[in-house]
Amino acid sequence: MPPIITECFILKKINFRETSVILTLFTKELGKIKGILKGVRKEGSKISPLTFSEGAYISTFVYKKKSELNLLSSPTLLKFFYFKDKDSFKVYFHILKLIDVFTPDLEKEESIFYLIKEIAETLETNKKQYLLFLAFKLRFIEILGYGIKLDKCCICEKEMERYFFSPKKGGVICKNCNKEDPNCVKISKKIISIMRFIKKIEIKNVEVLNIKKIDAEKINYLCNLTLYYHTNLNFIWWKNEKNIFR
Ligand SMILES: [Zn+2]
Repeated sequence: MPPIITECFILKKINFRETSVILTLFTKELGKIKGILKGVRKEGSKISPLTFSEGAYISTFVYKKKSELNLLSSPTLLKFFYFKDKDSFKVYFHILKLIDVFTPDLEKEESIFYLIKEIAETLETNKKQYLLFLAFKLRFIEILGYGIKLDKCCICEKEMERYFFSPKKGGVICKNCNKEDPNCVKISKKIISIMRFIKKIEIKNVEVLNIKKIDAEKINYLCNLTLYYHTNLNFIWWKNEKNIFR
């Protein structure tokens, strides 16, 4: 099979043997893949270490293999994002980690590729990194098909005064329907309307929203309940996310 050339973001890098690396990539053409890049760590290698560093935006040839591990070759660095502050790096790497944890292998999803690109570019200038993180998460959950529906009760479709948030249904449910999900939690009108704003606004404009970190953290918690409902992961993937909001 001829190789495919693809643009991608490096989600994870593991050194392999003496001179190689194994990369987990989110590619435009193939979705998430793993590949080996041979010999790049040997002395005198013409490929700069940034080209195979976590977070790098590169293009590379992929020789697809039957095994989980594909063969990569001739990578070119398209961009390494140098953010001005630690918080932006923190948010960027949290996002890459979430994509690694939650996306299945080999499922093409260009919208995720473009979402990473847009967030990274916006992080270069945006000062409200915690809002960008939320903007990412709400969109990511939507792409994965887990929600989040906020317009009316997800079950009876009626508009009500008071709502609960159901991780199972991926959205709000009314007080008459809240028996359907014993794990649902109360959600205020204010939080619902903030979530709507973040979903609606263009990512590059998210900075104009005036949202307190404490409310942002509440929304992040609801997002995590939704993601948690859909996985059997037994490790704490949301660990350290609180650092983004405090
Ligand atoms: Zn209802």
